[in-house]
Amino acid sequence: MSQSSTLELARASYREVSLYSPNRAPARVDLSDNTNLWGVPPAAARAIHSAATASITRYPPLYVEDVKKAIGGYLGGIPPEMIVTGCGSDDVLDSAIRAFAEPGDRIAVPDPSFAMIPIFARLNGVEPILIPLADKYEVDPEPFLESRAKIIYLCSPNNPTGTVVSRPVIERLIDEAPGVVIIDEAYAEFAAGNCLDLLKRSPKVLITRTLSKAFGMAGLRIGYALGDPALIAEVEKSRGPYKVNAIAERAAVAALTEDLSWVARHVQQAIENRERMVRVLRDMRLSPIPSEANFVLVPVPNAVAIDQALRERGIAVRPFTALRGVGDALRISVGPWVEVEECLSALEEVLG
Ligand code: PMP
Repeated sequence: MSQSSTLELARASYREVSLYSPNRAPARVDLSDNTNLWGVPPAAARAIHSAATASITRYPPLYVEDVKKAIGGYLGGIPPEMIVTGCGSDDVLDSAIRAFAEPGDRIAVPDPSFAMIPIFARLNGVEPILIPLADKYEVDPEPFLESRAKIIYLCSPNNPTGTVVSRPVIERLIDEAPGVVIIDEAYAEFAAGNCLDLLKRSPKVLITRTLSKAFGMAGLRIGYALGDPALIAEVEKSRGPYKVNAIAERAAVAALTEDLSWVARHVQQAIENRERMVRVLRDMRLSPIPSEANFVLVPVPNAVAIDQALRERGIAVRPFTALRGVGDALRISVGPWVEVEECLSALEEVLG
C-alpha cells in the first residue's frame, strides 16, 4: 500500500493536525518547559523509591481516590466528588472537551494561549475559534460570548503571555456563557490570586490544574480538574480508568500531604527570581510582559535565530514566531538564579 492510500484509512479531520513536537533536545540549562527546576518534592522521591512490587505488577486504583482526597486537603477542603484526575492536565483538558462538546461544536480559545487546546479540539472533532487577546493581553468577553461556543477556554495565568484574566471578565463569561467555562490554572500557584471561589458561583465552571509545574512532577504526569460533581462525573467517564499510574499515585499523595512547605518555598523563590529576571531584561532594553507565572515572555526581533544562538551556548528557551499581538518572542522559564543568570548573559551576548 502506498503512503497516500494508507493515509486514507485515517480520519480525514486528522490530516490538518500535526504531531506536537517542540524541540526537546537536551541542553545544559533548560528553561524551555516551565517545570520546577529546583527538583522533586522529597517525600515524593521517598515514596517512589520505596514503592512495592505490586505497584508495578497490579493495576492502580481506577480513579485514585487517595489522590483526590490529598488534592482536596491541599486546596482547603474540596470534596473528592468535585475532583477528577488524569495523566497530566493535558489528559483532563482533552477529556473535558470530549465530554462537553459534540463533534461539530465549537470551543472559543484566546489567541495566543496554550497551544494544545486547538489540537485537542480538532482530535475530538471540535472546531477551535481563536479569539485575539485585547489590549494589554486581556480577554475581551464580547467575541467569546458572540461565538456561542459550547465551551469557553480561559488560561490564567495564560501560557505563553503569563498574564491573568481579570475578575470582571471571568465573572461575566461565567454568568453569560451558554456552556462550560474551563479555566486552566496550570500556573495558579505563582499568581497573586486564583479562581477557586468561582466554583461556588456556577456549576458551569471547570478549573484544571497540574502537579507538573509548582509541584515539580511533570515526568509523573498528574493533572486534575475541579468542578460541580455532575460535570466532574462526565469528565471522569470521558477520561476512563487507570490514567494515573500507581507510582505517580503514591508520589502525588506524599507531595500533597507532606511537601507543601517545600512547594511553597520554591514557588516563592520562582516569584522572586521572576521579578529579578524582568528587571534585568528591562535593563537590556527589552520589554518583557509582566508575568504571574513561572516564566516570562519577551518579545524579540527574530526568535528562531536567537533561539538557535542560545542553543549553541547550551541554553534552551521556547521560541515563538509571529504570535498574534506580540510578534516573535522567547518564553523563558524561571529557575534557580544561577541558571537564569546564565541564560540572561547568553541572551545579552547574542543580542550584541
Ligand atoms: N495547561 C497549560 C497552560 C500548560 O502550559 C500545560 C503544560 N505545558 C498544561 C496545561 C499541561 O500540563 P500537564 O499535562 O503536564 O499537566
